[in-house]
Amino acid sequence: MKSLWNDDEAANFSGDINQRVYTSRLLGREPALVLHGGGNTSVKIREMNLVGEDEDILYIKGSGWDLEKIEAAGFAPVRLDHLIKLAKLPQLSDAQMVNELRTQMTRASAPTPSVETILHATLPYKFVDHTHSDAIVAITNTASGHERIRELYGDTVVIVGYIMPGFDLARQCAEQFAREATPKTLGMVLLNHGIFSFGATARESYERMIELVTRAEEYLKSRKAWDISVRATPPDNFSPRDIATLRRDISTAAGKPMIVARTQNERTAGFISRPDIQRLSQQGPATPDHIIRTKRAPLLGRDVASYSAAYRAYFERHAPQAREPKTMLDPAPRVVLDRELGMLCVGNTAKDAHIVRDIYERTIDVIQQAEALGGWVALPEKDLFDMEYWDLEQAKLRSGSKAPMFTGEVALVTGAASGIGKACVESFLARGAAVIGCDINPEITTLYKRADFLGIVCDVTREDDIANVLRAGVAAFGGIDMAVLNAGVFPGGNRIESLSTADFKRVLDVNLNANLSWMRELHPYFKLAPRDGRLVVLGSKNVPAPGPGAAAYSASKAALTQLLRIAALEWGMDGIRVNAVHPDAVFDTSIWTPEVLEARAKHYGMTVEQYKRKNVLKTEVTRRDVAEMCAEMCGPLFAKTTAAQVPIDGGNDRVI
Ligand code: ZN
Repeated sequence: MKSLWNDDEAANFSGDINQRVYTSRLLGREPALVLHGGGNTSVKIREMNLVGEDEDILYIKGSGWDLEKIEAAGFAPVRLDHLIKLAKLPQLSDAQMVNELRTQMTRASAPTPSVETILHATLPYKFVDHTHSDAIVAITNTASGHERIRELYGDTVVIVGYIMPGFDLARQCAEQFAREATPKTLGMVLLNHGIFSFGATARESYERMIELVTRAEEYLKSRKAWDISVRATPPDNFSPRDIATLRRDISTAAGKPMIVARTQNERTAGFISRPDIQRLSQQGPATPDHIIRTKRAPLLGRDVASYSAAYRAYFERHAPQAREPKTMLDPAPRVVLDRELGMLCVGNTAKDAHIVRDIYERTIDVIQQAEALGGWVALPEKDLFDMEYWDLEQAKLRSGSKAPMFTGEVALVTGAASGIGKACVESFLARGAAVIGCDINPEITTLYKRADFLGIVCDVTREDDIANVLRAGVAAFGGIDMAVLNAGVFPGGNRIESLSTADFKRVLDVNLNANLSWMRELHPYFKLAPRDGRLVVLGSKNVPAPGPGAAAYSASKAALTQLLRIAALEWGMDGIRVNAVHPDAVFDTSIWTPEVLEARAKHYGMTVEQYKRKNVLKTEVTRRDVAEMCAEMCGPLFAKTTAAQVPIDGGNDRVI
C-alpha cells in the first residue's frame, strides 16, 4: 500500500484540524483500510475557551461522517481531561458513555463523538489513526493470529485481544498500553478488529498506518496468501423469475419489501464454486463491524425459510435475558450465494444493497487470504451476536425518521427520458422506490447517476428489448412491483380520408401493441411483488372526448383503456391493481415548443397564458401533476381502487 501524501495538496490544509482532515481523507480513499463509515481519526489540540482558560480538546470523528469526505465540522470537540477521568472508572454503560461524550463537547452542534472516543483519548499522542485494514483482519482471523502479529511486528505494536468496541475495550487498551508501550511502539493491533497508529504530526501518524499495513500485506504475500482468490467463469443465463421469487421470499421474511441486487463476476463465481464454501461462508464476517450489514453468514442456495428459522434460533441462543422486550433484526438474509443466480445482496434501498455488496466482496478476499494463511477462523458466535445486538441498539438510538412510502419497492417507467415519463421517475424516486427507466433515447442511460436508478435503451415495439429491460431491471433490484406505461407517439393531424394503414398501424404498434407485450411480460413479476403489483397507464382526454384529426392516437388510447379494464378483471384475483390517468393539455413537455404554443394560442385568439388555462378550473396542468398522480395511484390512497380512469385536465366540459 502506497502513501498518498502529497506536499502540494497538504499545503492547502493549514493548522492541526485541517491537517487532520487531509490525512483522514487519504485513509478514506483506500477501501482496503476503511469502507462505508469504518475507521476513525482524532487530534488533540490545546485551545483557549471563552473565559480565557486553556483546555485540551480531543477532536474525534463524529458518527455519520465517512473519512473519505470528512470536513472540519465532522470532528466532535470533547474535553480531554474529562475523558481521561472516565477511562479510570471501573465501568460505564453505553448510555452513560454517550451522555458523557455529548455533554463534554464544546460545540453544541457537533455530531455525536465516535464510540471509540475514550480509546483515542487515552493514547498519549497528538494524532491517532484507526482503520479496519483488510490485511490485519485476514491475519488475525486465523487460529494463530496473535502469534503471527507478534512475529510480524515484534515489539513495535501493542496487541489487544478481541473486545467489543465501547468502554471495556477503551479501558483494556489504556491498561495494556500503559504497561506495554515503549519508545519503539508505532501502533496497536486489536485482534479480529483493526489497527491503530499514532504520531506527533498528521503525516507521521498516517504514514505509520501505511507502513504497518504494508508490512501486513508483505507478510501475506510472502506466505502465498495475497492474491489467492479463486476465479471461475460466471454462469450467464440466470432466470430473472427465480430472482424475483427469491426476493419475494426474502421480503416475506423481512416483513417489508427489500431490494435484491445481483453481482456476478469471476471472483464471486470462484468463491461460490469452492467445495469448502459451506465451512468458509458460515463462520462469520471478516470484522464484527460489518455484522449488521451482512448478518452473521450468507444464505447458501435459496431456502429462505430455513435461513430465517436458523436465524431465530441463533437469536434465542444468545439474546440477553435481562432486556425485555428483545428486539431482533428481521430474520431475512443480507447476502445470498447461489451457483446459478450468483451473489445477491439485500438492502432496504439500492444504496444499502450496494454497501452490502462492497463489504461482502472484500469479505470474500479476506476469508480466502486467511484460509490460505493457515485456516480462516472467525470470532465465536457469541461475540458476533453481542456486536450485532449492540449495533442494532445503536441504530435504534440514531434512527428517528420514517421511511418513504415506496422504500424497498421497484417501479418501471416507459418513455422515461423526458416529459411526463421523466417526471414519473422523479416522483417514484422521491417516494423511495428504485426505478427502472427505459426509453428509445440513449440519454436514458445517463439521466441520473444514483444507485436507485437504472436507465436502459429500449424500443418498446421490439419484444427482445422488453425482455432485456426486465432481465437487467430484475438483476439490478430483484423484481418489479409497479409500472407506469407512458411511452407513446402523437402523430400530427391527419384526417381519416388521408390516413394510411401503415401510419395507423405504426401508432397502434407503439401506443397499444407494445403495452400488451409489457403487460403480459410484467404480470409474473407483479404476482411476486411483496405488496402486490400495480400498473398505471397513460390514457388521454381523447378517450372520453376525441377530436378530429387524431384518429390513430385516439383509437389506440381507447383500445389501451379497454385492455386495462380487462386486465383489472383478470388480475384482481392476484391482488394487482390497474388504473389509468387521462391527462390533457400538459404543455411543459418537449412537443410543446414556445413556437407551437404561440401558434395554437393565436389560433384560438388567446394569449399563451390563457391558452394554457383553457379549462374549467382555469389552471395549468404540468407533467409533475400527472407524475404525482401516477405515483399516488400506486400508493395506499388507491389501495382499494382498480380500473379507475382519472382525468387530470383541469376540468374539460366535454368530458364532464
Ligand atoms: Zn474500530
